[in-house]
Amino acid sequence: MTLSTHDLIVSYRNDDRHALDGVSIAVSSGRTLAVVGPSGAGKTTLLRAIAGLQHLDGGDVVLDGRSIAGRSPQARRIALVFQDDALFANMTVQANLRFALRSQAPDADAYVAETAAALHIAALLARRPRELSGGERQRASMARALLSDPKALLMDEPLAHLDPSLRRSVRDEVIGVRERFPGPIVYVTHDHAEAMGVGDELAVLVNGRIEDAGDPQRVYDAPRTIGVARFLGERPMNLLPDSEQIVVGIRPEHVRLVAEGPLRGRIVRRESTGADAYVLVETPRGDLTVRVPAGLGLRANDVVALDLPPEFVRRFDRVSGIAVA
Ligand code: ADP
Repeated sequence: MTLSTHDLIVSYRNDDRHALDGVSIAVSSGRTLAVVGPSGAGKTTLLRAIAGLQHLDGGDVVLDGRSIAGRSPQARRIALVFQDDALFANMTVQANLRFALRSQAPDADAYVAETAAALHIAALLARRPRELSGGERQRASMARALLSDPKALLMDEPLAHLDPSLRRSVRDEVIGVRERFPGPIVYVTHDHAEAMGVGDELAVLVNGRIEDAGDPQRVYDAPRTIGVARFLGERPMNLLPDSEQIVVGIRPEHVRLVAEGPLRGRIVRRESTGADAYVLVETPRGDLTVRVPAGLGLRANDVVALDLPPEFVRRFDRVSGIAVA
């Protein structure tokens, strides 16, 4: 089974720009598509459009070979988990989860218990939502989505409001959800590392358009546009003018420090992340950020020689911003 969108167009009344400007994505059963993009790119609008919560100005949503664009949100059987997901405040977690079940099968309690255990909230079933931490609430929301027996699952920045240590543990739960849910998942985030970690496939949404999509490593290594090269990565890809037409790009971790080389420069800034350091090197070709081991002891004002291995150098058209061979 596949969930896909075809040239989706959405514009909000007060805006001449399209929030979604011809968005086509596809994700099959058992796969997770991570949609990543800056704030305002249209990620939430895309999920709302798929779930049936958003008026479409054009395009189609297809599930399992049939158009569902004309169906109500309920009839689509697509679950949406979002960042401020509201559980019923006056009901226990157990009652919230029971409520999500479509059928009142005799083994309903066992199914609820099993799903709660898988998401590590079995001990919390008697509590009310206000007695849960943010991470626990998010896990209860994911359990509720699974129990509603959806055909496809959409997650909108489920970890956005959690602190960094909690994000890691709830991210593991998302991977747990993936193992339990057979259908397609679309996972939206503005965090490129989270997208790379969760997605089997990646789509980069910028200004209402998919600028690149495919295998996450391919998109990271060989982005299709300058916009994607800048957006993905711990630090943006370095971009240096090469000629009238061409800009070359190389990631900070691919620039090599060498004893002797044609490209020499002076370190103007150093920023350590603990294991590594990013040094900004001023060269005659332009400024380059280079990732080096923190223990190397490089400091501001040191002069270094750099090599740009050709296998890591990408070329982009200067005007269109699109990668060229
Ligand atoms: P993202 O989820 O990537 O941050 P959104 O889908 O929320 O992006 O928003 C995409 C664009 O549409 C933004 O420019 C935003 O300001 C605009 N937008 C979102 N919701 C509305 C709304 N209800 N009314 C008008 N404009 C909106």
